[in-house]
Amino acid sequence: MEGMSKSATVVGAGIAGLAAAIALAECDYRVTVIERGKKPDPDSPGGAGIGISSNGLDALAELGMKGEVQRAGVRTRIGSIYTDAGLQLSRPTTTGAGRFVGIHRQTLLQLLTDRAEDLGATIEYEKVIRSDADLPEADLLIGADGIRSTVRKWSFPKVRPDYSGATCWRGVVEADELTPDQLEVWVGRGTEAGIVPIDGGRAYWYISVKAPMGDKSDDEATLAAETIGPFDSPIYEHVLATEPASVMRDDIHYLPTGLKRFTSTRTGTPTILVGDAAHAAMPNAGQGVSQAFEDAATLKILLARHRNIDNMLAAYDEHRVERSQKIQQQSFDMFNLMQANNSISSAVRNGVLKAVPTLVQELVVDWNMRWPNPRIRN
Ligand SMILES: Cc1cc2nc3c(=O)[nH]c(=O)nc-3n(C[C@H](O)[C@H](O)[C@H](O)COP(=O)(O)OP(=O)(O)OC[C@H]3O[C@@H](n4cnc5c(N)ncnc54)[C@H](O)[C@@H]3O)c2cc1C
Repeated sequence: MEGMSKSATVVGAGIAGLAAAIALAECDYRVTVIERGKKPDPDSPGGAGIGISSNGLDALAELGMKGEVQRAGVRTRIGSIYTDAGLQLSRPTTTGAGRFVGIHRQTLLQLLTDRAEDLGATIEYEKVIRSDADLPEADLLIGADGIRSTVRKWSFPKVRPDYSGATCWRGVVEADELTPDQLEVWVGRGTEAGIVPIDGGRAYWYISVKAPMGDKSDDEATLAAETIGPFDSPIYEHVLATEPASVMRDDIHYLPTGLKRFTSTRTGTPTILVGDAAHAAMPNAGQGVSQAFEDAATLKILLARHRNIDNMLAAYDEHRVERSQKIQQQSFDMFNLMQANNSISSAVRNGVLKAVPTLVQELVVDWNMRWPNPRIRN
């Protein structure tokens, strides 16, 4: 019944917007996704690697994409944490809580784009939404436009991103005999670095350091290598082997918690925020993408359950606000622990990581990794 289907506009074709588009199309919405960027070029992949944990994979199962994403990525787990001198502070995880899929962002975006388009969604690239006058008329509006969301500003103008105090270099390189087969992390004073295998026989590395906002160098690759050089870590060799022009540097911002709702009717069109537009956590927790998948899967389940749109919006807030904001808070706590930057606080951190058995650490993260599926939890 083509003429009777509802319509939705999604602002942003990042991971959250594409996942939401799939959820909506699965519920027979006519979906238009509007993206200010260019159509991604699979031959010149931008971005780096990401980890999708078990809660994200469970949410992907609701979107019919778990198997495909698992096959495309590398199944791996959270491994050891070491000091900069190479002293092992914690052992690899042994329970399911530590398992995740490592995948290049571009590989994941391509899978999501293909699926959304197969389901009939239209993606309009190189189009910027500046005001609600730029929006096509629709029954539902999804704000998936990232941490500096324009859609969020219309409904919650006081909520602004904040600088975390840290900047992060990232790179992707061909894996070699030094590449670990699981996520390995090193911590020094004010520094955290990690490396993980991803698809295509590649490895993704990151180095995060405390730094003033906006600091830049003409040669980010050399600066990244100098930062990790003193560490007893194979990341140094991986940085040297990375094509220098492809090394990315981003200051890490986050969204303070405190939003009581992710939904609004203020523009006249029922609006739902998803992904970083609603709850941008620190990357330490590795939960940004998995939370976006939880958003989309929840949207799909609730759209099928509630005919009344106000009830659906209220149910979305009930299922998503508290959980995603707890994860945000945990990500800040983890960031402060991992990037402790004076001799006393970093010694305390090392002591805590060494003293707390791995199993206890796993029990703490286990809560994050269990998505309370609204299909089961009414
Ligand atoms: C250094 C770093 C490392 C990370 N590592 C991980 C990790 O390992 N695992 C993980 O799960 N997460 C990780 N994250 C977090 C993760 O990248 C984000 O949570 C995720 O990308 C959010 O997706 P999104 O679609 O909500 O936002 P975005 O990816 O920001 O996408 C928003 C899209 O909206 C578009 N847009 C914005 N405004 C407009 C407009 N006005 N009109 C039209 N289009 C617009 C943008 O062009 C963009 O394509 C990391 C983040 C950082 C910074």
